[in-house]
Amino acid sequence: MKTILTGLRVNSELTIGNYLGALLPMVRLANKYNHDYNINIFVPDLHSIISEVDGDLQKNILRSIKVYFAAGLEVNENVHIYRQSYVPAHSELCWILNCVASMGELSRMTQFKEKSEGKSSVNAGIFTYPVLMAADILLYDAEYVPVGEDQFQHLELTRNLAFKVNNKFDKPIFTPPVKTEKQVEFMGLKNGVRIRNLVDPEHKMSKSSRSENSKIMMSDAPEVAAKKIMSATTDSVGKIEFDMFNQPGISNLLQIEALVNDVPLQDVISTWAGETHYGDLKRKVADSVKAMLEVFQARVDEISDETILEYLLAGEEYANIVANRKLLEVQKAFSLR
Ligand code: ATP
Ligand code: MG
Repeated sequence: MKTILTGLRVNSELTIGNYLGALLPMVRLANKYNHDYNINIFVPDLHSIISEVDGDLQKNILRSIKVYFAAGLEVNENVHIYRQSYVPAHSELCWILNCVASMGELSRMTQFKEKSEGKSSVNAGIFTYPVLMAADILLYDAEYVPVGEDQFQHLELTRNLAFKVNNKFDKPIFTPPVKTEKQVEFMGLKNGVRIRNLVDPEHKMSKSSRSENSKIMMSDAPEVAAKKIMSATTDSVGKIEFDMFNQPGISNLLQIEALVNDVPLQDVISTWAGETHYGDLKRKVADSVKAMLEVFQARVDEISDETILEYLLAGEEYANIVANRKLLEVQKAFSLR
């Protein structure tokens, strides 16, 4: 059985961008395919420590799993949920792949450039974490790794590392994940979704953004979230159209409205075509976001830590078996065993 793999970093709460762009599509995908694929959902806790963690990491880990359930994840025997650091093979394989990856290719990673820009000191983890990500994927021969577009480059790196190792030994050790275009197709999206920053819609919404009004957190009080939508930056064009280039703020609101209500964007665009009152659109989107957060937050509170820990223990038992088998194969190829 093929594997679909996903992990979300848990340094802080999720934004609605992370939720609508990554988590919700993933959960829908998992529910759709959980009879035909292994669904590996892991908490990349080793990735979390490459930067400061907001709050209590242990609490965040449990919460991050609850979030999948609140988003509607259905679990059966093919769904495996585990913590990265509880499967030591990830770190082992990462080291081996570090000895395969080149400084040049890692230096080209946009995420590295962005995360290190303007900093006087940058830890080495920020430089090599794409290699750890490759290990996370290759240990399980995961072909489908649904990620946002900001991670496409890391997926390409993973493919390259897989090919390099396979060629080095003239035998296929790793299954490279499929190309990013195919990933997007598999996810049922033409393009990766990119929710914009509410204050500065030229840029994407990011959880690490310092401006509170620029982002809606999934833990925001629903009323607060509604206010942020009401004060979102728009434009002076004066008509409601989907045009990410000239009207990114309005287009962003249309996109949020469609995703939150799970209706095609085209339907939302048609509904608002010819309208000119930005306030009306904002009120509608604010209500939609508020309603979504109310349901979501109530669901998160319902799930107990004990339930989550049970899933994790079962998932880690499975993950260690699969990952250790692959690691041994690699160790043998490198004459480490
Ligand atoms: P950071 O500012 O720390 O980079 P982030 O909000 O960009 O945080 P990530 O942890 O980098 O979040 O990414 C988590 C997932 O959410 C990834 O799959 C990423 O592609 C997706 N994602 C991040 N931002 C957005 C966004 N604005 N719209 C849609 N998807 C997003
Ligand atoms: Mg990011």
